[in-house]
Amino acid sequence: MAKGQDNGTTILLGLEDYKVGEVWGGEDRVMVKIEVKGREKCPHCGSSRLYGHGKCKSREMLHTWSNGKKVYLEFHRRRWKCCNCKRTFTEGRELVRSRSRLTRPAEAEALWQLKDRNFSQVTRELGVGYGTLRRLLEREIDEEAMGFMQDEDEIYLGIDEHSFRHQELVHTVTEVKQRKVVGILRDDRIVTLKKFLTKIPAGKVKEVCIDMKESLRKAAEAVFPLAKVVVDPFHVIADSNRRMDEARRIEQDVHRKRQVQIPKKIFLVGREKLTEEKKQKVDTLLERYPALKGFYWAKEKIRELYRQPSRGEATKLLENSSST
Ligand SMILES: [Zn+2]
Repeated sequence: MAKGQDNGTTILLGLEDYKVGEVWGGEDRVMVKIEVKGREKCPHCGSSRLYGHGKCKSREMLHTWSNGKKVYLEFHRRRWKCCNCKRTFTEGRELVRSRSRLTRPAEAEALWQLKDRNFSQVTRELGVGYGTLRRLLEREIDEEAMGFMQDEDEIYLGIDEHSFRHQELVHTVTEVKQRKVVGILRDDRIVTLKKFLTKIPAGKVKEVCIDMKESLRKAAEAVFPLAKVVVDPFHVIADSNRRMDEARRIEQDVHRKRQVQIPKKIFLVGREKLTEEKKQKVDTLLERYPALKGFYWAKEKIRELYRQPSRGEATKLLENSSST
């Protein structure tokens, strides 16, 4: 491989500190052979007086995803013994934790994906099993906690509700700009959340992004009085969809004696995505169940607001619609 190309692969994979060798690919995976460049220092005492102590069995580890393919590293790691403190270690721990089948960047990505998706979605998309994801999350709570935030000047938090361990709802706290999970809390109680949030340096928090729960807003404002509390557009739209569907269910219950089933999905899909025929169907349904009209058009209006190219345009649209 030419030198320039070689560097390109290295940069693409974020492996500047490693020696990247052969790259080969199959139907759904790419394999990259890598080694540690030069010598590391002893992680126990910092000495650079080391002697070779054998090699690790090379292992495949998932590193990243590219074009729908999983990129694996075949990592050849040496073992070293320190002349100073006499302890042994395996090199490359910056890239992968001992015994993990995922590199640290791959772990970080999987955790990030878990933020607003459930386990089965992430498993499907990244091809990482449920057990692995769970272990990642649980370790993250213990280890990562919030060490990194001490070094940041500005913090942008996101607070979400997440269904973890199947049914139970818990709050998750993330740093939105750094794309890092800061904490996964024990439950979804506001007390637990507040207790956690007070450990974050409040003066640095610029923005807190939450869903539409009033209790969350109050908690965020109480702990971070200087921060701007905003609602994620995703949550606003999800909320309007939820209201739409609630109205539909109530309407259905009212008519239960007549055994009606009011279709669900058609009301939740964005109107611009519907075919003419489907739009007709919605209009007919709205005529038959006029109680749903308000919810439907409100939901569409909100979606339209978020499609505006700028805040100014959105404001104009909002003012026009509230005056009519
Ligand atoms: Zn040492």
